[in-house]
Amino acid sequence: MIKRSNIDNIIVAGKSGAGKQPRIDVLTGEFSLEQLSTGNIFREYMGQFDASGYKGEISQFFDDSAPSGFVPDGEIEDAIRKATGAEGDLSGVVLGLKAKANINAGKFVPDTITNALFEKFFSRTGYKGMVLDGFPRTAEQAQFLIDLSKEKGVSLDLIVLVENEDDLIVGRTVGRRLCSDCGKVYHIEFKPSKDNVHCDKCGGKLKQRSDDVEDRIRSRLQEFYDKVVPAMKILEEAGIPSVVVNGNLEVFTEENVRRSVMEQVQPLLDE
Ligand SMILES: [Zn+2]
Repeated sequence: MIKRSNIDNIIVAGKSGAGKQPRIDVLTGEFSLEQLSTGNIFREYMGQFDASGYKGEISQFFDDSAPSGFVPDGEIEDAIRKATGAEGDLSGVVLGLKAKANINAGKFVPDTITNALFEKFFSRTGYKGMVLDGFPRTAEQAQFLIDLSKEKGVSLDLIVLVENEDDLIVGRTVGRRLCSDCGKVYHIEFKPSKDNVHCDKCGGKLKQRSDDVEDRIRSRLQEFYDKVVPAMKILEEAGIPSVVVNGNLEVFTEENVRRSVMEQVQPLLDE
């Protein structure tokens, strides 16, 4: 059983487009936790790198013979200090550079770098009080998280899997349209604008994100099966309880979402 007052961290996982965010909102509210998203962590440290003002070619720091794929951190720091006059701790800037160098080169960011970024950000929270969103996403990241939580003496209390069928996700996502001026989100079937071409709010032209086409969506789904499912299995095998929450409600209201989450979680709570 989980003591409501003793919850350190909850992990939320689900396919891209399954409807994680409303369920995360329920969990953060219900248990007074904060959301920790991998996307925000990457933005934070890549932002720190951008703010350093370093304008040199970052691919020069790749070193394929090193386990990290990069030359030693000291060398990178020296180059940044020399070019920008930066002082103090540059570890976040270096991590941001490494993430950015991989992304710019069209490569996957290696687990070692994602883990380091995650740990750096997680340490600021005291390693607790979080709903983890987007981490862990691979088996290696899952093992890292288990080891880190043991080392820091905090618990991983619960896994919440938001489930939704592949075809439903594809249907919902391919129909999504964004206003190219104000960013408002529409759906050609479920939430169309008046003429399905322009934004009702500002008149901007609606567009489809390049990520929202069917083969991109299917490949994100495949990645979920290949990487995230094994990651969750490792967490479960480590003894972390998990529940499955329906990501597809017939009537979507805040109360229905809350109820669908808490119906699953409540039986595990020892109030
Ligand atoms: Zn608009």
